[in-house]
Amino acid sequence: MNFCSHCGAPLRLAIPPGENLPRHVCDTCGTIHYENPKLIIGCIAEWDGRILLCRRAIEPRHGWWTLPAGFMENAETTEQAALRETLEEANARVELSALFTLFNVPHINQVHLFFRGHLLDLDYRPGIESLEVALFREEEIPWEQVAFASVRETLRHYFSDRRAGKYRFHIGDIDPTPEQLATFSEQPKPNFVA
Ligand SMILES: [Zn+2]
Repeated sequence: MNFCSHCGAPLRLAIPPGENLPRHVCDTCGTIHYENPKLIIGCIAEWDGRILLCRRAIEPRHGWWTLPAGFMENAETTEQAALRETLEEANARVELSALFTLFNVPHINQVHLFFRGHLLDLDYRPGIESLEVALFREEEIPWEQVAFASVRETLRHYFSDRRAGKYRFHIGDIDPTPEQLATFSEQPKPNFVA
């Protein structure tokens, strides 16, 4: 963040009085621009034992498979976000049941949530962000081409719970991959001004 969204003046990183973390501060109008983690909300849409996956038409992971999921919008609930993302990415209508997984992804400042749900009909088709949408049995899941760790872990928990005959809520942390760690360590540390 380089410029103030209120007045357009350049911002600087500084620790405001009484706080302990550096923030983007505008010296012209006094606004402190707080940045907090973003929520990614998704859905496991099931039909007759099969799970709906979308093949991504956008980066990152273009061409890889994912559960329908995306950034939560302001003024919506987590359930609404799950339904909207499933509609946008797969044109699929679902009835949600319970929240199933929560993953902290602190290295990219995100929290990922996935609900379980049941497809209401088979009239799904790719949305603008998907190349293809299809139902997969467990043995058909393209594990090597699953786009994100939180999606892979959610699917693993889902099939494991289904075999156990009971769906539980799962919470976990996603750590950076070795490649991501290398990228982070190459980035220069911002020059914080206290
Ligand atoms: Zn300003």
